[in-house]
Amino acid sequence: MKAFEKNIRKVEPYVPGEQPQRRVIKLNTNENPYPPAPGVRKALQQMDTDRMRLYPDPEAGVLVNALAEYYGVEKDQVFVGVGSDDVLSMCFLTFFNSDRPILFPDITYSFYKVWADLYRIPYECQRLDENFRIVKEDYYKENGGVIFPNPNAPTAIYEDLAFVEDIISHNQDVIVIVDEAYIDFAGKSALELIRKYENLIVVQTFSKARSMAGMRIGYAIGNPALIRHLNDVKYSFNSYTMNQTSLVCGAEAVRDKAYFEEIVQKIVDTREWAKTQFAELGFNCLDSQANFIFVTHPEYDARELFEELKKADIYVRFWGSERIEQYLRVTIGTREEMEALFKFLDGYLKRKGE
Ligand code: PMP
Repeated sequence: MKAFEKNIRKVEPYVPGEQPQRRVIKLNTNENPYPPAPGVRKALQQMDTDRMRLYPDPEAGVLVNALAEYYGVEKDQVFVGVGSDDVLSMCFLTFFNSDRPILFPDITYSFYKVWADLYRIPYECQRLDENFRIVKEDYYKENGGVIFPNPNAPTAIYEDLAFVEDIISHNQDVIVIVDEAYIDFAGKSALELIRKYENLIVVQTFSKARSMAGMRIGYAIGNPALIRHLNDVKYSFNSYTMNQTSLVCGAEAVRDKAYFEEIVQKIVDTREWAKTQFAELGFNCLDSQANFIFVTHPEYDARELFEELKKADIYVRFWGSERIEQYLRVTIGTREEMEALFKFLDGYLKRKGE
C-alpha cells in the first residue's frame, strides 16, 4: 500500500438500482410510470437558455415559495436539495453530531448506513419484528438522533401518525427525521406534527409521486431554527445545489394538484390490483402502502426469479441480504407493464411446476 493511501477516506458506497439504457419494463427503482405534470413540459419549452449564463438563485426561492404555499408553511420552514438523497445527507451532517449512536431500522433505506459511515456518525440498527414492522419501543432509549422512512423501504409498510408521534415524543432531546419519500401513496404525513415538535424534520421528494426522479428535487420541512442550521451547512458545502431548470420545473409541478392526485390514484389502484394478482400466483406480499410491493414466494428462489425476469427484460430489485434474501421489490408500473409481469410470472411458475 502506498503511504498516501493511508489518508484516503475509504467508504463502502450505496449501490443504486440499475438504469439500463434501453427500453425495458423497469420496475426496479420506484420511479413513476407516468410523465410529470403537463405544465412542466410547457415550462421547459419556454425556458430562457440565456439564463444559464447566470448562477441559479442560491435560496431556490421560486421552488421554496411554491412548496411553502402548497403545504401552508412559512418559507423559512422549507429546505430544498438535489433529490431527497442530498437533503437527507445534509440532515445527517447537520443534525447527527453526537457521540451517542443514531437509531434506524435494520431493514430500511440502505443509504442511511452509508451516510453514517461517511460522516463517521455512530449508529445502531433496530431489528424489525418478524412481520417486518418497526418496534417503536426500541426507539425509547438514549440516542444521538432517529431516522426512519414512513412507509418504510423496501417493506412498503406504513405506520399511522399516532405511531410516528409516539417515537417523536419519546425523543424530544434529539432530532427525529421522518423520510416520507413514499407518503403520497400511503396515509397521513408527519407534516402536521411540525408545529408541535420543534425537533422534527420531514423529508419528501419529487422523484416518486411527482414523476421527476430525473430532475433530482427533494425537500425538508421543519421549524425555522432547524432549517437555518441546514442552510448553514449547505452554504458551507455548495451554495448552488439546485440548477435553474429543476427550480422552474419543480415549482410548476407543485402547482398542479389535480394531475398529482390523478396519477397517485392510478398507481394506488394498480397496486391494489397487483396485490391480488401476486396472491393468486401464490406470492406473499407485505401490505404495501407505497408505489412498490415487497414479495416472496414460498416455493421459488428469489435470486433465480430475479435473473429470469431480467432475461425477459423485466427489471425488479433484489438484494439477497440477511432476512430479505427471498424477497423481491417490485415497483408499480402502468397496468400494461404489470400485466406483462404477471403473464411472465404465470408462465414461469407453470414451467417450474411441471
Ligand atoms: N428515501 C427513501 C426511503 C428512498 O427509497 C429513496 C429512493 N431511492 C430516497 C429517499 C431518495 O430519493 P430521491 O433522492 O430520488 O429523492
